[in-house]
Amino acid sequence: MDLQQIHESQRQFFLSGATKSINFRKQQLFKLKELLKSNEEKCYDAIYKDFRKSPFETYTNELTIIYSEIDFYLKHLDRLAKPKRVRTNLANLPGKSYRYSDPLGITLLIGAWNYPYQLTLAPLVSAIAGGNTAMIKPSELPEQTMLFMEELINTNFPKEYLYVIKGGIPETTALLELRYDKIFFTGSPKVGKIVYQAAAKHLCPVTLELGGKSPAIITPSADLKVAVKRLIWGKFLNSGQTCIAPDYLYVHESIKDQVLQMIKIVLEEIRYTEHSDHYVSIINRRNYDRLEQMINKDKVAYISGKNNPELLHFAPTIMTDVSWEDQVMQEEIFGPILPILTYIDLEQTYQIISQQEKPLSAYLFSNESLEKEMFLEYLSFGGGCINDTIMHVANEYLPFGGVGNSGIGNYHGEAGFQCFTHQKSVLKKATWGEPNIKYPPYTETKLKWIKRLL
Ligand code: NAD
Repeated sequence: MDLQQIHESQRQFFLSGATKSINFRKQQLFKLKELLKSNEEKCYDAIYKDFRKSPFETYTNELTIIYSEIDFYLKHLDRLAKPKRVRTNLANLPGKSYRYSDPLGITLLIGAWNYPYQLTLAPLVSAIAGGNTAMIKPSELPEQTMLFMEELINTNFPKEYLYVIKGGIPETTALLELRYDKIFFTGSPKVGKIVYQAAAKHLCPVTLELGGKSPAIITPSADLKVAVKRLIWGKFLNSGQTCIAPDYLYVHESIKDQVLQMIKIVLEEIRYTEHSDHYVSIINRRNYDRLEQMINKDKVAYISGKNNPELLHFAPTIMTDVSWEDQVMQEEIFGPILPILTYIDLEQTYQIISQQEKPLSAYLFSNESLEKEMFLEYLSFGGGCINDTIMHVANEYLPFGGVGNSGIGNYHGEAGFQCFTHQKSVLKKATWGEPNIKYPPYTETKLKWIKRLL
């Protein structure tokens, strides 16, 4: 299908006003949810073939997020889309002021591979709620999920409204030549820059959902048992291929042995083995090799099981005595390797972390208020948790997004609606009571009155 033709048909469809009615938007959201619900088995099959993600994880980490986003908009769209009356200042009286949430137009949504359904369809849900059309480019790496989404959308929605484009870099490059009213990209900071540059040619607004090295810190005041269990879950979920996974861990020198011991116990209990259904494969050989090269064997303190390159099974690997000079600290790991660094002074540690690029997430395990306050005050990060990992993403009432190198803009819930609409400010002026004071000729007396009034 010719991209330009689809793009033009979406432009015409948007201009027809069809996507703007609230009823239409709700119907499409409802339809998308029903379609996903009735195709859940196919959805599980596809992702299992791609990287052995289990139905449990697919449901809890992908589909529930899409469903809650849809439910949020079905419940709140009337309120969100309603023009909001705001105060009118003296200079504009008599009059009334409003903010209108205006649909943007054609959107381009580019997804990442690691949570392929969630990262492609959750932005789509917000784009629909905002009253837009969408050209959708899922990641090509999980091929079966890409094909599933192509079939689901392209056979059930008109192409002038929603359309999935299969393909990799050449297709994305061709898509980026066209002019959109919004580009929403999820992926690496490296490709984020390519997208940003392409968008600049058309002054197109962008949201960039990127990545980075997200720290986790455990202090001696923490409930260590809870901390280690939640840390391990967040780190090895999706085999560490999670944008908000704790990338590395800082522990206080005095508890490092105890924490390591507890990590081993938790890993032995969970058993992320190559035959378990709760541990996904690495997405491809390139990433598998990249992860192997990050490891300094002398610093490996524990491996939970054995690697199997044929199955792309990469066992949870714990490294200790790690410093910022190590290979594993040079880039986002995006895999099941946990480097542990130790600290003595927490304030200094916050300063070291602040020297790095701003992370997408940060996690603190502590039971001391001062440590928590310092964490929030010192560190700039997209979002995060105190005494947990990952779970902030699952609250549709919290905006989700990065800051600095980890992204531009937010989505989910109300933030998603704002991401895909424009705040159109309108003053509705009465036709009576026009003061002559603002019109020329300007006089000293008029200025004196203006200063007094305003
Ligand atoms: P990626 O940047 O390699 O790919 C993302 C998308 O860009 C894919 O659809 C791909 O086809 C396309 N693409 C790749 N190279 C391109 C090029 N040269 N020109 C145009 N398009 C190109 O990212 P990925 O490997 O899919 O995902 C991993 C990265 O994404 C990590 O950095 C991770 O932290 C980040 N991420 C962020 C979030 C978030 O919500 N902030 C979520 C998931 C992943």
